[in-house]
Amino acid sequence: MESKKFILQESDIPTAWYNVLAEMPTKPRPMLNPATKQPLKAEDLFPLFTEEASRQEFNDTDKWIEIPDEVRDMYRIWRPTPLVRARGLEKALGTSSHIYFKNESVSPVGSHKLNSAIPQAYYAKKQGVTNITTETGAGQWGAALSLAARHFGLELAVYMVKVSYNQKPYRRSIMQTYGAEVIASPSMSTKAGRKIITDNPNYQGSLGTAISEAVELATSTPNCKYVLGSVMNHVALHQTVIGLEAERQMQMAGEYPDIVIGCFGGGSNFSGITFPFLRHNFTGEHNTRFIAAEPESCPKLTHGVLQYDFGDEAGYTPLIPMFTLGHDFAPANIHAGGLRYHGAGAIVSQLKADGLIEAADIPQLETFAAAQLFARSEGIIPAPESSHAIATAIREAKRADEEGRSKVILFNLSGHGLIDMAAYDQYLAGDLSNFKVTDEQIAENVSKLEKLI
Ligand SMILES: *Cc1c(COP(=O)(O)O)cnc(C)c1O
Repeated sequence: MESKKFILQESDIPTAWYNVLAEMPTKPRPMLNPATKQPLKAEDLFPLFTEEASRQEFNDTDKWIEIPDEVRDMYRIWRPTPLVRARGLEKALGTSSHIYFKNESVSPVGSHKLNSAIPQAYYAKKQGVTNITTETGAGQWGAALSLAARHFGLELAVYMVKVSYNQKPYRRSIMQTYGAEVIASPSMSTKAGRKIITDNPNYQGSLGTAISEAVELATSTPNCKYVLGSVMNHVALHQTVIGLEAERQMQMAGEYPDIVIGCFGGGSNFSGITFPFLRHNFTGEHNTRFIAAEPESCPKLTHGVLQYDFGDEAGYTPLIPMFTLGHDFAPANIHAGGLRYHGAGAIVSQLKADGLIEAADIPQLETFAAAQLFARSEGIIPAPESSHAIATAIREAKRADEEGRSKVILFNLSGHGLIDMAAYDQYLAGDLSNFKVTDEQIAENVSKLEKLI
């Protein structure tokens, strides 16, 4: 393996996050109160989220938002992360394109999620909150928040999607090792969970359901706040450390990306790697393509509609303007648990509607083939989620070769897959399949949404 790494110093960890909301040509529509349909203000979110996260959610004026020292101190545990020129993969493909990846899998919990877990736990602590709660799909976000909660001395309850709770028991153990309480969702501990179990006793859960349960716990427990790992503007903001570092590392490599790719669940790692580069498209300095790589089984950006929808299954959250498949969409049990979410964050949705970013939907088997090639050529076993970005990078490199061009392609390796080996086992045994949703199924599901756009 002849891959080349570009390494920054600790002092190069960014001192501010990049707030794309301040510079977007068209700002997203406002979030709405579901009862009154009136636009929300930061204060309206205070009962649910921490005050600082709520303010960041609505901040569309400050281009740079300072990273607190306490957060940067914790970022130092693993940041800056390496940028790698994937020469092994280039060689395996025989491509003339240059492929780079930003390696976010080197965090202690194995994914990018810690970038936002730390500031959110910090803001909770600073505000005097004692308990936080959240949902987790594959367990990556729950693991990250468990570590952050422990560091800042907060109690944490995590609702983990039932299918992952059973498929990925080690992520549960990781959370418990850090000291979090983990509950399989749907559970009997909330009204939302009890209703879903009563209606459908075998339901294996979804992120939407788990969010409903966590929101219900937060709003019915004193001094407890809800913390979200994706979708929201403030989470995308925190993740921009990825792209800001990558921008400097691409300078070290003496190149600028033609294409930047991130896999897509709710949008946090995609936003993190792309927004700092997108800002140079706004000024006309560059004309980079940005591709969100989503599963064929949960294709909100490629096949969903832009409409106001709830962030959760039960309809407890504000109405968010998002590309959605409908908040009760039940995605197939693919192994990329972190991508099994019905909607896309408001910022990314607006960027997609304005044609400033693109999306691709990838079948599960193609992602595992890409993962295996990447593991064999670069030595890193990628998370099934990240494999969607790898598969898309491979598609783009092949397309460039067919067109007789050479491109500079950058993708985000959002996490490693060392705790997902059961999924690889099934792939190697030939037991995995693709799950395509038809446009008719999607049309039927979104037809239930109130047409506010
Ligand atoms: C959670 C997760 C994702 C998907 O979430 P986004 O908010 O879209 O980034 C992707 N990759 C990994 C490794 C994850 O843990």
